[in-house]
Amino acid sequence: MPKALRIYNTLSRTLEDFTPLHANLVGMYVCGPTVYSYLHLGNCRTFSSFDMIFRYLKYAGYKVRYVRNITDAGHLEGDLDEGDDKFAKRAKIEQLEPMEIVQKYTQYFHDVMRDFNCLPPSIEPTATGHIIEQIEMTKELLSHGWAYEVEGTIYFDVEKYSKENNYGILSNRNLNDLLDGTRTLSGQEDKRGRLDFALWIKAKPEHLMQWQSPWGMGFPGWHIECSAMSKKYLGAQFDIHGGGMDLISTHHTNEIAQNCACNGVAPVRYWMHTNMLTVNGVRMSKSAGNGFLPDELFSGSHPLLEKGYSPMSVRFFMMQSHYRSTLDFSNEALQAAEKGYARLMTAIRLIDTLKTEGDSNDMVVALRSKCEAAMSEDFNTPIAIAHLFEGVTFINNVNDGRERISPQDKINLKQLYQDFVFDVFGLKEEAVIHNNKMDGVMQILLDQRAEAKARKDFETSDRLRDKLLNLGITIQDGKDGATYSL
Ligand code: AMP
Ligand code: ZN
Repeated sequence: MPKALRIYNTLSRTLEDFTPLHANLVGMYVCGPTVYSYLHLGNCRTFSSFDMIFRYLKYAGYKVRYVRNITDAGHLEGDLDEGDDKFAKRAKIEQLEPMEIVQKYTQYFHDVMRDFNCLPPSIEPTATGHIIEQIEMTKELLSHGWAYEVEGTIYFDVEKYSKENNYGILSNRNLNDLLDGTRTLSGQEDKRGRLDFALWIKAKPEHLMQWQSPWGMGFPGWHIECSAMSKKYLGAQFDIHGGGMDLISTHHTNEIAQNCACNGVAPVRYWMHTNMLTVNGVRMSKSAGNGFLPDELFSGSHPLLEKGYSPMSVRFFMMQSHYRSTLDFSNEALQAAEKGYARLMTAIRLIDTLKTEGDSNDMVVALRSKCEAAMSEDFNTPIAIAHLFEGVTFINNVNDGRERISPQDKINLKQLYQDFVFDVFGLKEEAVIHNNKMDGVMQILLDQRAEAKARKDFETSDRLRDKLLNLGITIQDGKDGATYSL
């Protein structure tokens, strides 16, 4: 029997007992990246949160089929199907084929997921690999009157759908409110209703990514891909659907409408949404200009960053907040997380060296059930981490001879950290490059830089400093000479 869980369901806006459709099995779909440019740290927060959820579901005893798609076609600049095609625009800027753009940024996404130690999903379907399924679903919606065609473009008829269904069910907004907040976008004057959205879009002859369909050459709308692919791999109804909160009001609302209209059943039992990563209170996004890249974060090469931070200290920083709380980025917060992560890892390394004696300690015995209780209450990682730090204090006390650890407690403690820190939170030991050889090489460079400064060759000394910074190595000048940190 898997462990009991409660999940906050965006649909009901309450914590609910989690009961999967099929005992012991969980189907989970998470909206993946739009691979038209580098992903930023905000995106990474969402994917790392669902990675932790995937990991804890497995720890809790479920067999999970985790589907996370790659959006490699059909996403226009605006989420309301307005503006240029993101891929075509980028292809022009970079003078590449759209599929070269897709390849390049999918590769980057995978590299970053590996850096953050996110497990690969069970299935990673692409929109371009499922054009047939999207056309089939569009045909189905058309044939039952839920959609209409205007010169090769197919729109979903929201007002018709709303007569029998609650279109704003996920965002808890009624149709009039939604209508009031929507204007007719240029190029979309042919829609019957302002809220109608495109299932299939007629392509202009010069459009680079287009496919044959019953309505002529075109490409899919953004929302239909997730409906078609979740249905294909998880069924018309499945357990968990996730994504960032910014997807609730349009993308996920439209997914529900498409699925309900096509399949006659609500697709998802538990809608889960991660909150946003912000920088000084502003949501991180490419357009806000505060969306630094993971590489910039690791190397410290962004004006907002005082230094570089390692992937695991960043992952620890993310796990320290609950996935439904906003997480504000600041150098101070990351430096605190860096210290916390180092303290945790040092304590875990110490466990093996502890001498055992005496009886079991009640606090140690209770730790696993406390961590499980926190995690089974909507994946409360900050509380679970606080409990793990009770263990850290205990380990340090034993190491200092202030407390004793029994042989069984030592075995249990080691397993507890393995299960939670490494398997559930997905943290890992980072390569220790800070060794004597590294120190020796760095001293040679620091001496060269000092010599350059002494002969007032600041061009060389600055160049050395900047090159090292690009590698994630920061030089600090002090009164006793320069030191470095990674
Ligand atoms: P995109 O590639 O823009 O489709 O976004 C991929 C995922 O990242 C989606 O689930 C978004 O909701 C999520 N996301 C975008 N911006 C942020 C942010 N600032 N914080 C957390 N998640 C975000
Ligand atoms: Zn999606």
